[in-house]
Amino acid sequence: MVLDDLGSSLRSTLDDLRGKSRISEEDVDEVVTQIQRSLLQADVDTGLVMDLSDAIRERALDEEPPAGTTARDHVLRIVYEELVDLVGESTEVPLEEQTILLAGLQGSGKTTTAAKMAWWFSKKGLRPAVIQTDTFRPGAYDQGKEMAERAEVDFYGDPDADDPVQIARDGMEATAEADVRIVDTAGRHALEEGLIGEIEAIAAAVEPDRNLLVLDAAIGQGAKEQAQRFDEAIGIDGVAIAKLDGTAKGGGALTAVNETDSTIAFLGTGETVKDIERFEPSGFISRLLGMGDLKQLTERVERAMEETEAEEEDWDPEDMLEGDFTLKDMRHQMQALDRMGPLSQVLDMVPGLGGGMMDQLPDEAMDMTQERMRTFEVIMDSMTEDELENPRSIGASRMKRIAAGSGTDVDDVRELLEQYRMMERALKQFQGMGDADMERMMKQMQG
Ligand code: GDP
Repeated sequence: MVLDDLGSSLRSTLDDLRGKSRISEEDVDEVVTQIQRSLLQADVDTGLVMDLSDAIRERALDEEPPAGTTARDHVLRIVYEELVDLVGESTEVPLEEQTILLAGLQGSGKTTTAAKMAWWFSKKGLRPAVIQTDTFRPGAYDQGKEMAERAEVDFYGDPDADDPVQIARDGMEATAEADVRIVDTAGRHALEEGLIGEIEAIAAAVEPDRNLLVLDAAIGQGAKEQAQRFDEAIGIDGVAIAKLDGTAKGGGALTAVNETDSTIAFLGTGETVKDIERFEPSGFISRLLGMGDLKQLTERVERAMEETEAEEEDWDPEDMLEGDFTLKDMRHQMQALDRMGPLSQVLDMVPGLGGGMMDQLPDEAMDMTQERMRTFEVIMDSMTEDELENPRSIGASRMKRIAAGSGTDVDDVRELLEQYRMMERALKQFQGMGDADMERMMKQMQG
């Protein structure tokens, strides 16, 4: 994730300020130095870093902290506001009929992003279609088609045609029933006249409502020139940053966005069609600063819950908070978690846990957890309905049978039951908690 480093280093410095009510020049310098280091490492433009640090230093020393706020919160707020300002607003993406054109160099992530965006729109209740006009890169047609299938959205392309503009025109006709058309274009290895001319012609043919530039998160300073060239040619309304999961950088993309006065629309965080997030400046920065992003998290949880419920209509998560917690409930929890994406990403968004927890957990521990979830899933498949509903009925001989049936060890089965009992105990505590307690806890977490 971009500026990954910033979150943890900044948090520890800010924590040093916790007890203080006044902030010294040295304190501010230390915070600013850390921000500079992280931003520069993440490839953010030097000039931009200097402007940002000046603004933070000035405000932290000049502005009086409002009564009742600690030095830590005062500085945190300023850093947060300045960073939100740096990344800018989110590109407007209305949920209505529209055509979106994707531009970018080859390999930036256009084809993947096209399918992801289509998936995203379909989850919002619209009917999207992907139009693949890339005749330049071998395999683009097959890849686009396959990803569109995975996203369960309409797709148009023509592997035998070689005129992208004609494909674009035909595609617009063929997808007339769709609400949102996402037009994928060919990239090149570098900015070339051929590329710019082609995208201008496609834009003229499909008359897009918005043009998004897809940038590889690891691109570095080259992003600026790309953004400028595409902006001159067709006008760039927003940027989709792909492959954020694979890099600690991303600063080049941020710089490009800042310098061309464009904004960020989407973030790509993995290779599957679901690994897309709408860019939300405040949530994005909250996450960087380890404050968690409640909004994103609740969205994902809700979506996962909806899907789980759709699958098995008689299961209501509310029951879990009232009645007995069974292994069936646990399986639903695990499935919901699985749909939310990698556990590490989900945990990263939990307020309070935030980056802090992630720093403490080695990567192996996270992988283990996911692998363990998969083992549990297999074990539960070997249980009877009755055992799932009444886990306490599972004694030693049943454990043996279940282990044999699922090709696992008795120890695995025992571990599953232990995990179950742990979750049950935790839930009991939640059940004892009133709404007022919950609200207080939420407020605390939001800071
Ligand atoms: P295009 O040439 O611009 O259409 O780029 P592609 O969509 O083919 O992407 C290039 C490579 O990057 C492919 O191997 C994708 O699987 C991969 N990719 C794209 N987006 C992401 C992302 O968000 N995360 C990861 N890990 N890989 C991505």
